Amino acid sequence: MFWILCAALAALAAAYVLRPLFTEPKAALDIDLLAETELDRLLDRKTVIYHNLKDLEFEYAMGKLSDADFHRLETDHKNDAAIILGKLDQLGASEGLDDSIEKEIASRKDKLFSPRPGRAPEALRCPSCGAEVIAGKKFCADCGQRL
Ligand SMILES: [Zn+2]
Repeated sequence: MFWILCAALAALAAAYVLRPLFTEPKAALDIDLLAETELDRLLDRKTVIYHNLKDLEFEYAMGKLSDADFHRLETDHKNDAAIILGKLDQLGASEGLDDSIEKEIASRKDKLFSPRPGRAPEALRCPSCGAEVIAGKKFCADCGQRL
């Protein structure tokens, strides 16, 4: 009986000690997924502004706002929206957002899975003697021509 208790205690202790080994990777992944990008921030902001604009139109339709107030607030919101859309355009993301995300994923996959650095399989040649030269060198090793 005593030995069974000991074994049970040991098993419990082992489970307690080893638990972080199995939970840690998932937590790290969550943090990675939750990291907010500039794009996420702008898209959130855009959604909020559109929502506010709809609220504003609703309240105006309900007669809660004067014409002057409505037009002033509407202009404010639309200016904000224009700024956000401009920033999204700079990120290349306002239209074809899915496309740009797909491109980003594809380019990252390329970098991750292609062993060749860059995309220059064709050898560089010296313009003077035609000998093969190493990229980044300033002079041809064969004839001394400046590259
Ligand atoms: Zn040369």
